[in-house]
Amino acid sequence: MKELSYRQIHMDFHTGDQIPRVGNEFKGDEFASILKSADVDSITCFARCHHGWLYYDSKKFPELVHPSLEQRDLLREQIEACHKEGIRVPIYTTIQWDGKMSYEHPEYCVVTPDGAIDGYKPHEPGFYSFLCVNTAYRDFLKEHLKEILTTLPVDGIFMDIVQERDCSCKSCMDGMKERGFDVLKKEQRMKYAHIMLREFKKEISSFIREYNDDCSIFFNGSHVGPGIRDSLGSYTHLEVESLPSGGWGYTHFPLVSRFTRGLGKEFVGMTGKFHTNWGDFHSYKNKASLEYECFNMLAQGGGCSIGDQLIPSGKIDRVAYDLIGSVYKSVKDKEPWCRNAESLADIGVFNLEEWSVGENPAAMIGALRLLEEPGLQFDLIDSLSDFKKYKLIIMADLVPVDVTLKTKLQAYLDNGGKILASFESGLVASGKKFAMESFGIEKIEVDDRDWKGDKSSGKDYHTNDYCDFIIPEGEFFRGLPKVEHSMYIRGLSVKAGKNTEVLSNTVKPWFYRDPDHFCGHQQTSSSGEIGTPAVTYGNDILYFSHPVFTIYRKKGPLWIKKMVSNGIEKLIKPRISHDGPSTLKVMVNRQTQERRWIIHLLHYIPEKRCEQIEIIEDIIPLYNISLSLLSEHRPLDITVVPEMKKVEFTYDSHKADFSISKIEGHCMVEVKYGD
Ligand SMILES: [Zn+2]
Repeated sequence: MKELSYRQIHMDFHTGDQIPRVGNEFKGDEFASILKSADVDSITCFARCHHGWLYYDSKKFPELVHPSLEQRDLLREQIEACHKEGIRVPIYTTIQWDGKMSYEHPEYCVVTPDGAIDGYKPHEPGFYSFLCVNTAYRDFLKEHLKEILTTLPVDGIFMDIVQERDCSCKSCMDGMKERGFDVLKKEQRMKYAHIMLREFKKEISSFIREYNDDCSIFFNGSHVGPGIRDSLGSYTHLEVESLPSGGWGYTHFPLVSRFTRGLGKEFVGMTGKFHTNWGDFHSYKNKASLEYECFNMLAQGGGCSIGDQLIPSGKIDRVAYDLIGSVYKSVKDKEPWCRNAESLADIGVFNLEEWSVGENPAAMIGALRLLEEPGLQFDLIDSLSDFKKYKLIIMADLVPVDVTLKTKLQAYLDNGGKILASFESGLVASGKKFAMESFGIEKIEVDDRDWKGDKSSGKDYHTNDYCDFIIPEGEFFRGLPKVEHSMYIRGLSVKAGKNTEVLSNTVKPWFYRDPDHFCGHQQTSSSGEIGTPAVTYGNDILYFSHPVFTIYRKKGPLWIKKMVSNGIEKLIKPRISHDGPSTLKVMVNRQTQERRWIIHLLHYIPEKRCEQIEIIEDIIPLYNISLSLLSEHRPLDITVVPEMKKVEFTYDSHKADFSISKIEGHCMVEVKYGD
């Protein structure tokens, strides 16, 4: 396997058949030279699009070649022109979205539990019916792939839209019954979908290898989560599709990349040059946004991929590549300090997707912000990760503990590890009690149903109906005044064991808000009466009974951030600290072979300037930022790279202190060690 390209383009080409003269303005030399001048080293080009058309001269499926394609072998011309300039060209094909195929072969489609075609909107534009790869459609896919692999030069195969769907088509129904799955239960159907898709990926990956020994292979599910673990063998690398202006937002990529980098595969992040999402023709992302997105990919340990869409004529957009080139030039200069870099995270945060439905639950986004804003170093982990790497493990709000995890966490604690947990984290799956005695607390059974009969703890009410309070007292709450602070969302009622220190109790409101009891617009004020413990500490476990990570995601109170930061500092000395603003992002990586650490400092501020997306327009420089880095050994040199500007530092008590005179967007600092 060759080194992963770090400056990639993903060139969409979904082209409807009503468009005339497709590809008539394509010029191979121009295409490749513009890419080359933008420092692009890989471009994914189309064999087949979501409309279902082919862009190569197919002998096997001539009826599927785009009807207006003037250069019948467009893909081959793209590949040959790029190869002359030393640019790789992985080949794109679509798996589950093919408008023509799903329209002509409804029997290939994913069937929902109520018998409809998944994603089918017959009276709307779009090609979003999902195809089921458990049908005879798989045979077509293999014939199509075989033709690509045997007739075109193949650097890689990118297969798009490969997702677990809740399918009740005949093949899936038969498959589920054969293997003893209960087709009436969604959970069972999804389990089957997972296994079926894993087997599909394995089969296709082996099939590709019959024809090509070393091309890259990637199945795009638009997300990477714990569910990918058992099919990693089918991938050569990973790509994290995440266009901040395309619905993913600015919190998706940092979360997913912090998990992806622990999976043992190289990866690229994938954004777009579009102002908004895929298919936003004739639009351009602000340069500051594109810089931030690409440099953040480097900082998280990945390479870069930028999405574009070629207009139907095939003429490449010079303006787009001036923009992309202005960023990729810089990526190229920075690359030597980024390849094979591993995160030096001292904190592992459980990825809640292992236990929840849906991507990036609120508590995880809360955790991302609570840790990124003070510059803490963390990875996302799951129950299969190696815990030994971390000084601290964070269990945000909703991590259930089964027997296996209990044993693993106890061993981690016994070896000197620390845990910060909140709300229902640490409970057994039934929620009845805490799984580990080490937590030093017990759950108190209370009737926590609201007036509608719903569970009130953990629920975010519009008017904070079940809000209680904390009065910060003592060293733990340094920096906060000793008055009631609203906690907004009701926590778990617990009582502390005899060796467990209660750092704070909750303070009750006069009453919870319901139709017969309310006071003012929102939560009822404090009654001053002490309730159950809010923060406890013992056996190297710090516990918050409130869902502090969800609260921060929902409302962002500064006092919650202070409490969590103080909690982390009570347990460990963070790897790095700085006196910059909370908008400064700090990532510390290590290149073992080069014997150096790389500190990434990123300062870009997304702002919700319009209804639909967050905008970054300006780079606001920071000056004279002091940093303090925990380091067991005295560094040889500290240098701003790639500018190679030496930085003066002092070293004392395993800490290197230094100051960076100017951070303009992205700044990398090399900390070099001797042999
Ligand atoms: Zn099916």
